[in-house]
Amino acid sequence: MASGYRDILQRLRLSFPQPVSDRVHDSYFVHSIMRALDQVDALKSELPILGDAVTLDYRHAREAVLPDHSSSVEEVTSHLVDHLRGMTIFGHPRSQQNVVPPTSIPSLIGVLLASQYNANLGSDEYSRLIAVAEVEAASITARMVGYDPETCGGVFTFGGTGTMLYGVKIGLEKACPGSMKNGLCSEAVLIASDVSHYCRYNVGGWLGLGTNNVVAIPSSEDNSIRLDALEAESRRLLEAGKRIAAFIATLGTTDAFGLDDLEAIVRLRDQLVEDYRLPYRPHVHADAVIGWAWAVFNDYSWEENVLGFRPRTVRALAGAQRRIRHLGLADSIGIDFHKTGFCPYISSLFLVKDRKDFDLLSRSPEQMPYLYHFGEHRPGMFTLEASRGGAGAMAALANLLLFGKEGWQAVLGHLVEMTQMLREHLDGHSSTTVVNRDNFGTVTLFRAYPDGVDTFTVPRREFREADFRESLLKHNDYNRRIAAYLHEEALAGRGVVISLTECYRHTPYGLPIVALKSYILSPFVDEDNVALLVQKVLEAREHI
Ligand SMILES: *Cc1c(COP(=O)(O)O)cnc(C)c1O
Repeated sequence: MASGYRDILQRLRLSFPQPVSDRVHDSYFVHSIMRALDQVDALKSELPILGDAVTLDYRHAREAVLPDHSSSVEEVTSHLVDHLRGMTIFGHPRSQQNVVPPTSIPSLIGVLLASQYNANLGSDEYSRLIAVAEVEAASITARMVGYDPETCGGVFTFGGTGTMLYGVKIGLEKACPGSMKNGLCSEAVLIASDVSHYCRYNVGGWLGLGTNNVVAIPSSEDNSIRLDALEAESRRLLEAGKRIAAFIATLGTTDAFGLDDLEAIVRLRDQLVEDYRLPYRPHVHADAVIGWAWAVFNDYSWEENVLGFRPRTVRALAGAQRRIRHLGLADSIGIDFHKTGFCPYISSLFLVKDRKDFDLLSRSPEQMPYLYHFGEHRPGMFTLEASRGGAGAMAALANLLLFGKEGWQAVLGHLVEMTQMLREHLDGHSSTTVVNRDNFGTVTLFRAYPDGVDTFTVPRREFREADFRESLLKHNDYNRRIAAYLHEEALAGRGVVISLTECYRHTPYGLPIVALKSYILSPFVDEDNVALLVQKVLEAREHI
């Protein structure tokens, strides 16, 4: 028999946290979360995944319909937990898959709190002190990377892609004033290296520049932008009458941790303004979504090395910091806490050196008649997003407080130490070669070679000489097979989950270089896990 709506409503009311203190119901809320976590715990084993590897059944998923009747919290919970089966445990010591961090407890609590009270950062009217938390997190980070919190601005947004979108949009308004209102004035370009993140095409396409106007500058073997090529191409573009919406400096490329020379790029920009008497200053956006965290080493004394890192680690950390310390020179910076900040997706911060740059994006109040009448802090006046949740900001603030400078140094230092150890192990075998040798992050790209290949010369020649194209392609395939073997073994509990990149970069003669990729981002990784990976790679060579 159907129940009256009041009965149904009463049941559903119990599925919400109670608006007025009710200790009994509170414990039901906590208990519901605990039960969910208990069920997740039951999926854990020694494996780096939850439960077993599952095949994904999209056909079944497409048959899903809205149930006729309401479900209990417990039923929903079980259903949701079921969707975690087969998920990689990114915090597992035998997980080195990609730039996906495990998430800390305080950051999860930050998300829960902001979500429970559903803060909207559009205006402090709707987020109160959580709007202040955004400013707090932005200010801490700004100081860290070398901005002045008194004059800079910061908003959390929808991913590293969003940070680049904001940077380039501001740059576009500078290069082509009035674009927001009138549309693009003339052809504007966006300039970045060929190993910068592919989101530059989204940004160029979605902003109306057109992806053809996203200019790729070749990178050096250390995966940083080639300054000679950047200068030549910039001059050519300006002489052809193009406007430069932005230079993107990547500080920490996704696949190899290449670091562009931001200081030189800013200097080049200034020179171009002078040489061509440009009526605008081309915007320099630092895509530091991965590299920003290294700023915690800006005042670390490498000589004293009080935290006791090994010499190889010190060298790698210092090597990265020497580029990161210039972040403050950029006009804007993109920062992902959901990458090297151990926060859940999405927690991305866009920082702009001069807060007034946000005015370039402001809408007039008449365009938003029903909003923003109250509150004094109203980022919604210029953000792309209308609703903007507080979870990212609260999660970031949580981890900034949790780690503190020393904690970040210890964790990042450890990850780099493990990475260096992996490279040491790989270097110790004649059949494996590290290919991003000159990069200092926590990602290692390497290739394995079959017996009889001289790895002192062959890899280098494959990467440079067109005569070696057959050899390159053959070994690309060889490494794909190694990856497949490693993957299968890891899922059976006998190895380490890593990944494969189909194109870590192109050879000068235009072919993609395939590489095995270890991304160490779990604080739980230790030396035995690193040694195990190398052992499994050697074993894979015997099996394929
Ligand atoms: C991941 C990444 C991006 C894109 O960030 P999302 O948060 O995935 O949108 C941009 N640039 C670099 C260098 C990245 O690694």
